[in-house]
Amino acid sequence: MNTAAQSAGVLSFEEAYEVVRERCRKIGAAGDRPSEEVMLMQALGRVLAEPVNADRDFPPFARATRDGFAVRAQDLASGATTLRVVGQVRAGDTYDLPLASGEAVEIMTGAAVPAGADAVVMVEYTERKNKAVNHKGHEGAQSEEDEAVINIADDDHVLEIAGQAEPKPQEKEKRTEDFVEIQRIVVTGENVVPPGAEARIGQELLPRGTRLGAAQIALAAAAGKASLKVYRKPRVAILSTGDELVEVAEKPGPSQIRNSNSYSLAALVAECGGEAVQLPIAPDEEGKLTELIQEGLKADMLLLSGGVSMGKFDLVEQALKNLGAQFFFTGALVQPGKPVVFGEVGSIPFFGLPGNPVSVMVTFELFARQMVEALSGAGPSRLKSASARLKKDFKTKTGLTRFLPAMLHGGLYDPEVEVVPWQGSGDMLAAARANCYLVVPPDREKLAKGEMVTVVMR
Ligand code: AMP
Ligand code: MG
Repeated sequence: MNTAAQSAGVLSFEEAYEVVRERCRKIGAAGDRPSEEVMLMQALGRVLAEPVNADRDFPPFARATRDGFAVRAQDLASGATTLRVVGQVRAGDTYDLPLASGEAVEIMTGAAVPAGADAVVMVEYTERKNKAVNHKGHEGAQSEEDEAVINIADDDHVLEIAGQAEPKPQEKEKRTEDFVEIQRIVVTGENVVPPGAEARIGQELLPRGTRLGAAQIALAAAAGKASLKVYRKPRVAILSTGDELVEVAEKPGPSQIRNSNSYSLAALVAECGGEAVQLPIAPDEEGKLTELIQEGLKADMLLLSGGVSMGKFDLVEQALKNLGAQFFFTGALVQPGKPVVFGEVGSIPFFGLPGNPVSVMVTFELFARQMVEALSGAGPSRLKSASARLKKDFKTKTGLTRFLPAMLHGGLYDPEVEVVPWQGSGDMLAAARANCYLVVPPDREKLAKGEMVTVVMR
């Protein structure tokens, strides 16, 4: 499928999809595109024009991932033991003294693990033991239980620390009578993320071409980026054709209908990061249609609706030919949307989408979306599909890959899907009631209740 001449015609869904993808890759690889600097929140949904790098290590310090006690794993190698609690460190604090053998520091999630400590024991596996001792000895046990604790903890080390003269401010903590019984062995590194484990300073966190969702915005925020350089949105011209169409604010005559496709398309374009440019309605008349198409070709991409079927007044292909269009396909074996057309005039890609309101949305989803994404500087995404259990038997004819408005519902582990009742591809209500499209492969006449089927999310 190298040239337009070879591939023009009616293709299977897979072929048509791949043809669009191939063009997207070419466009995606093509040189520099204009960019702009926007505030962080304005960057949501946009595409990065330059990488975001780490301005420090991620995490910047050994980070405790649990509330508990920072310890030396080696101290606990022999199983349950009791350690002297020499201090506390909260998130945002630092504990400056290195932890010595036999010691523990109470620590909160997100706090920096003190030097010398190499693991955090979750608070759930510990028991705090208090003992009233002075720093010279260990008199004054409060209870038998505490006495027992002291027996375990009463090694030379603890006494040695307790007996030190002239404590530094933090060492005062070491004079408390705090002990903790650790009820579980820990391994080195447990509940600690070492500094730089996620990324080293200077490392690329988000490459150019990344679409910025919530997680990427958060990462940019963490790297101190109050604003980001993003690609300008591609301008996508939308041209609805049809003598029967009137604008939304107009009162339709008895056989007229309102131009809703310009709105579904504008909404879809906006959703995937483009800037929709809605053109006036084009009549089914070659001259005026050609003029408006020319207007649309001033944008980065053109979406046409209607006028691509076999009727006498379906003039879109002819008008495009007049302008020297190259066609990559002039139909795809899909339902709805079989007459869909894809090509380029010069370097501007266009899609002629069938006018039926469901067809226009389905064919946008299947083919045009990835082109808007490619033009916005992001790699085109694949169709988002999921598996679900079919709720009711479904019968159809073979030959077309069908994408039928459907409702996916049910639980996390066993979602169910059912086709929304519809009056055919003109039924906008069905589209509005659906949250996905049920995929029926072209060789299937029947899908059975209970079978796992594929849906395309939208
Ligand atoms: P066409 O593809 O031009 O043959 O149109 C197919 C069907 O879609 C016809 O019933 C049209 O009236 C309807 N249709 C075409 N364009 C639009 C539009 N912009 N908004 C709503 N319906 C449309
Ligand atoms: Mg028409």
